Amino acid sequence: MADTANHHLEIDEVTKTFGRQQVLKGINLHVARGGTTAIVGPSGSGKTTLLRLIAGFEAPDTGQIRLDGRVVAGDTWVPAHRRNVGYVAQDGALFPHLTVGQNIAFGLDKAHGGSRKQIAARVEELLDMVALDGSYAKRRPHQLSGGQQQRIALARAMARRPEVMLLDEPFSALDAGLRVATRRAVAKVLAKAGVTTILVTHDQAEALSFADQVAVMRGGKLAQIGNPFVVYTRPADRATAEFLGDAV
Ligand code: ADP
Repeated sequence: MADTANHHLEIDEVTKTFGRQQVLKGINLHVARGGTTAIVGPSGSGKTTLLRLIAGFEAPDTGQIRLDGRVVAGDTWVPAHRRNVGYVAQDGALFPHLTVGQNIAFGLDKAHGGSRKQIAARVEELLDMVALDGSYAKRRPHQLSGGQQQRIALARAMARRPEVMLLDEPFSALDAGLRVATRRAVAKVLAKAGVTTILVTHDQAEALSFADQVAVMRGGKLAQIGNPFVVYTRPADRATAEFLGDAV
């Protein structure tokens, strides 16, 4: 389909209401294959809800979401585990009672039916991908730094070789130095694997350095979408300019 050849993810006219509040008011967003989009915007503007819809944790009320030209929400419904989409949240949400290796392998056995040996090899490969040596597999999450935990969360999300990765403020709990280092490590992993990525962030520098497309969300709408330079130098309206100014 020539129409969808360049767009890996297409969101058209998506709305979502919780109770009486319309949280998403007609979202249109197309993301190129292998592209990186940063979604920025004030708290409560609907960023996380949009990610959850793409992941398949929630269904839109109206509108359509397509992955690889295939409708996953709209006329048909494809559940989260069949979407090949990875998700990393702010706190990584590792299982505290499992080792790092078990955390990474979670979902691998069922999905791939591999032997124990194959799974162990894949865990080591994933640790290597996030620049941690194999000895980390035996540790528990609480024995790791925040940055290491986020890299493990990424490794776990990469285990099933997702085509699309959703990152919901994954670095915001880290202190400044670690944030930059972790962001660089994560960006490298995703770029190398050619994964189409959407990053929700409050951090303007992060959006600029990470993304080739920035989408500004406000009050359930996308106020502006464009390349980072254009969005930051020529904000579409005053509210966007003020928000981006505040975010510095
Ligand atoms: P952001 O990520 O931009 O901070 P969210 O998508 O988390 O925004 O939330 C947008 C609005 O939707 C908020 O007012 C939030 O309270 C509301 N909301 C999100 N999820 C739910 C839910 N499951 N039930 C009810 N309200 C929700």
